[in-house]
Amino acid sequence: MPKKQFKAESKRLLELMINSIYTHKEIFLRELISNASDAMDKLYYKSITENLGLSRGEFEINLIPDKEAKTLTVTDNGIGMTKEELEKNLGVIAQSGSLNFKDGMRDKDGASENPEDLTIIGQFGVGFYSAFMVSKKVVVKSKPYGGGENEAFMWTSEGADGYAIDSCAKETAGTEITLYIKDNADGERYDEFLEQYRLKNLVKKYSDYIRYPIKMETTSSRLKEETADGDKPEYEDVTEIKTLNSMIPIWKKNKSELTDEDYNNFYKDKFSDYTDPRAVIHDKTEGSATYSALMFIPKKAPFDYYTKEYEKGLQLYSSGVMIMEKCADLLPDHFSFVKGLVDSEDLSLNISREMLQHDRQLKVIAKSIDRSVRSELKKMLNNDREKYKEFWETFGAQIKFGIYNGFGANNDGLRDLLIFYSSSEKDYVTLDEYAARMKEAQDAVYYASGETIARVDSLPQVETLKDKGFEVLYLIENVDEFCMQMLGEHKEKPFRSAQSADLEIEDDSEKDEIKKINESAKDMLTVMKEALGGKVADVRAVKRLKTHPVCLTSSGALSAQMEKVLNAMPAERKAKADKVLEINSAHPIFEKLRLLYGDDKDALGIYADILYNQALLIEGMAVENPADFVSKMCGLMI
Ligand code: ADP
Repeated sequence: MPKKQFKAESKRLLELMINSIYTHKEIFLRELISNASDAMDKLYYKSITENLGLSRGEFEINLIPDKEAKTLTVTDNGIGMTKEELEKNLGVIAQSGSLNFKDGMRDKDGASENPEDLTIIGQFGVGFYSAFMVSKKVVVKSKPYGGGENEAFMWTSEGADGYAIDSCAKETAGTEITLYIKDNADGERYDEFLEQYRLKNLVKKYSDYIRYPIKMETTSSRLKEETADGDKPEYEDVTEIKTLNSMIPIWKKNKSELTDEDYNNFYKDKFSDYTDPRAVIHDKTEGSATYSALMFIPKKAPFDYYTKEYEKGLQLYSSGVMIMEKCADLLPDHFSFVKGLVDSEDLSLNISREMLQHDRQLKVIAKSIDRSVRSELKKMLNNDREKYKEFWETFGAQIKFGIYNGFGANNDGLRDLLIFYSSSEKDYVTLDEYAARMKEAQDAVYYASGETIARVDSLPQVETLKDKGFEVLYLIENVDEFCMQMLGEHKEKPFRSAQSADLEIEDDSEKDEIKKINESAKDMLTVMKEALGGKVADVRAVKRLKTHPVCLTSSGALSAQMEKVLNAMPAERKAKADKVLEINSAHPIFEKLRLLYGDDKDALGIYADILYNQALLIEGMAVENPADFVSKMCGLMI
């Protein structure tokens, strides 16, 4: 059969593999073993659902190194591939992630210099193609389960210039992959992969948990039994087929048997991440639900995490057999970033997706998982604040979304996990920590929102609160204010925005004084409001602004920041906050406004507009009509 070309995208990946400076060439074995195990899972699952009568004990993987021929063969008796499947599966990279590293791999000679590309390879797991990191030629012989005599085919490739598929002889169903190991070169030793000890170690390191035996003929020297007492001990070489892996899934092992490295390797392999997880949660529970769960909180958010495309879920196993790749019902939305798996004997192997949704047992497990993740995060928050802060910067928004989307249902469970930046601590604090520091007479939890910590910190309204000795929480994510509104209060103290028009921090005599000023300037303020033509709900004189001339607050439930967030989303009707333009009655501008009210009402209108736009700027918002604003400013300058 003539040689076929790889699809363009696969070809580039292949070139990268062949010339790879990827430091972990050894992962090729893990990838091949993992494919073999999947193929056996598929056949076993088919056997259960179609009553084929196969027993689990029949399945095995064999490693056959041949030092003379310089080949390493990996065989399995799994489901195998038809000719079409060989073509489809090994001629193209059918991976979700492959599209995303297209751009990083434009280098024509294939030797990508960009370390980012190489990290990306690790991120998506390269599967079968990684064989080319150590091989100059790869031959895959496969026969599908139930296939007849003429149904075995052989896929051969020497790398990027293409592959060929021919018929071949193969007695049993399954797949046999032979790697023609590269010659040693440039300090790189490929013949290691033909050594027993190296292969044994690699299986232990990466594939120990694989639930089918990985067998290899091994030779070890053993003490001769008939050695007589007093004689020099004599050894003999014994060759036997040994199972290299313990076959116990890692999640079924006891925590005490496992090291961080075991967990990390498992996570990276199974969930195609290239960084260690931030936290590992390993539960074994008996009682109302019996299950083992092994879950991970990643360090980084997947590239599509905050998009619609992201699918949450845990892998679901029933007595060690995977029945679902991503079971969404096991994870609440607020923990959608958790990766992992659940294995339970309480679920039937034949359960369908539809039935699963209504399964009572699954609901019990989901509830218990929610609790477990929460308590792990709480522990991290209390015992390792730095680590928690890093976690929070990656996934905190998701937890806040959880509070907002849950319409209050999740408040109690998630409230304790919240942290916000504090004006007085200059660091993240919990709501309880804030409450414990509250002044006796303080009747609200204060917050202020804006684009960045620095911007919020310099808001006039915040300065006033700080001067009075109040701690202010700074909200800088879009979801924050919505989350606060959903929570409503903490320890019976309402949340109150520093940017609300009725902040109520003045004492009675101050209130009286402001009332008087507003009354005496009432007509002037009305003229200004009218000049602004509906942009603001009110224009008021205030005393709390120290040296700042103006600020913008809002009088309703919707703040100016929330208006901005809502209007950035597609919606038919625009949201509108009831904005209040506050003018500092102690600032010289106030006197100027009074004068204009007396002799030039048109100019007063222009001043009102400029002050309004200045207030927008201070809030970190865009001026509504920049050209008009600039020309009005210039008008005053000349
Ligand atoms: P992935 O395993 O991530 O899908 P691979 O490149 O490793 O990607 O493999 C591509 C496909 O080839 C697999 O999805 C599977 O369908 C098929 N395949 C690979 N190895 C085997 C095997 N040993 N037995 C049966 N099918 C296999």
